[in-house]
Amino acid sequence: MSTTLQKQKVIIIGSGIAGLYAALSIEKFDVLIVSNESGGKSGSSYYAQGGIAAAIAEDDDFETHVQDTIKAGAGLVDYEVAKQIILAGTERVHHLAELGVNFKRDEKGNFNFGREAAHSKNRILHINGDASGKEIMNVLNARVSEKKNIQTRYTCEALEISVYGSNVNGIWIKNEKGETEFISASNIILATGGVSALYSKTTNPLSIYGKGLGLAARAGAVIADAEFVQFHPTALDLGVDPVPLATEALRGEGAIIINEKGERFLDNYHPAAELAPRDIVSRAVFSEISKGNKIFLDATNLKSGKVKDKFPNVYNLCKQNNIDADLQPIPIAPAAHYHVGGIATNINGRSSINGLWACGEVACTGFHGANRLASNSLLESIVLAYNSAKDVEQNFIEPASKSITSQFSHKNTNAISELEDLRNVMMENVGIERSEASLKKALHFISELMKRTSDNISFLNVLTTASMITKMALEREESRGCHYRSDYPETKEVFKRRCFEPKQKI
Ligand SMILES: Cc1cc2nc3c(=O)[nH]c(=O)nc-3n(C[C@H](O)[C@H](O)[C@H](O)COP(=O)(O)OP(=O)(O)OC[C@H]3O[C@@H](n4cnc5c(N)ncnc54)[C@H](O)[C@@H]3O)c2cc1C
Repeated sequence: MSTTLQKQKVIIIGSGIAGLYAALSIEKFDVLIVSNESGGKSGSSYYAQGGIAAAIAEDDDFETHVQDTIKAGAGLVDYEVAKQIILAGTERVHHLAELGVNFKRDEKGNFNFGREAAHSKNRILHINGDASGKEIMNVLNARVSEKKNIQTRYTCEALEISVYGSNVNGIWIKNEKGETEFISASNIILATGGVSALYSKTTNPLSIYGKGLGLAARAGAVIADAEFVQFHPTALDLGVDPVPLATEALRGEGAIIINEKGERFLDNYHPAAELAPRDIVSRAVFSEISKGNKIFLDATNLKSGKVKDKFPNVYNLCKQNNIDADLQPIPIAPAAHYHVGGIATNINGRSSINGLWACGEVACTGFHGANRLASNSLLESIVLAYNSAKDVEQNFIEPASKSITSQFSHKNTNAISELEDLRNVMMENVGIERSEASLKKALHFISELMKRTSDNISFLNVLTTASMITKMALEREESRGCHYRSDYPETKEVFKRRCFEPKQKI
């Protein structure tokens, strides 16, 4: 264990869009970004394809965007939060453009807006076809490297948040040398992304196991809506892990979903067919696959242009697997994609612990309700990152004057082979369809694994998150949004409420 206690001002954990944008938004203090990746291709952000939803087109307005968000969120969207995020989004998007993000524009220089499923207007800002995340991350990384007040420590994993009294007082990390080290800090912003790599079929990079949520929960932070895990219906089923994604924008452009006989079937499930909300399309595809059918995305007849030109990312991924997406249907399967739940925060990213903020996918504000509308997550990430940064600046907590010692007793921080077993159990039992029996089976597995691996703190964070998702899914005895219980297929009025663990609202 390293004995050097560093005094830093604001610590940000995670270097995806939320972490980097929060760092860039802090001007008054020094910032240290700690991330277990190496910069560049960090987190899910780098892989985002479709773009950012923003209600700024002439024929659009915030209320229409809010209503689309509410409709997708299946009764649990917090109207005020949605309104504030969508209104604030306009300024944030313009700021991204000022930082150098080259959003697609028309010949007059105005933003060009794409359409995605369940949006009633064209409002998706995108860059370079389906490489929006990569382009945004390249710009943010470049701006971060120019800022004198931002320091970065990559390949370092946050292991435990230390809380003294009711305040955060530091964080234990596994550092660049693989040693545990304590960093003193009274102001920490967690931006550690989602949980989806906890599932054996996932679109998220294999660094997104929900460790941030787990370490916040272990520190006592209130967690909200953890049962809602969104599955993306059109992951490219090409036998690789993680599974690459075919952006929803393809269906917006007219791609259809078919079975091996070439028949469309989605209108049997929802009148909007391919443009129905994600959870409905995912369950329909899952249901057809469960019946033994093979399912494909057919993008050979897009309304305008070719996959090769409009969606080069998807085209190249298919090409690497000997599929020409302009000529052949692409095999697909649903995959865990986005965590709607997370650390409960207010609109300024404040968690229930003094000195701990959260933004990006790890945070849960109530914006997405029970199901996220496509391209609303990058929007929420930048707004919450900015709000958290400004809230930290305005309410900066001075470090305690006397030095506080923090105990750290866990010895093992290494990767663990049981992770793959856990991912399979989560996929099978806590996935697109859950039931009391499957959830109890998963909980039993998780608690046995916790006993066997209790000295491994990194894995304890993963298991804590898996356990929270499963427990909260067990408690919600209904189906709503992206949470589907085969034993309670109906939506119940009594469950028309967000859930918090511990059971208090922040
Ligand atoms: C393939 C794909 C396509 C998507 N397309 C879109 C889209 O078009 N539009 C949209 O709005 N959303 C999209 N999403 C969702 C969106 O990309 C994410 O919700 C968003 O990028 C999350 O950003 P973040 O900064 O919160 O987390 P991430 O970008 O996931 O970053 C998390 C960071 O935290 C680090 N980290 C995690 N745990 C620790 C730890 N214990 N210690 C230190 N560091 C840690 C990670 O290494 C990473 O750097 C997509 C997601 C995927 C996977």
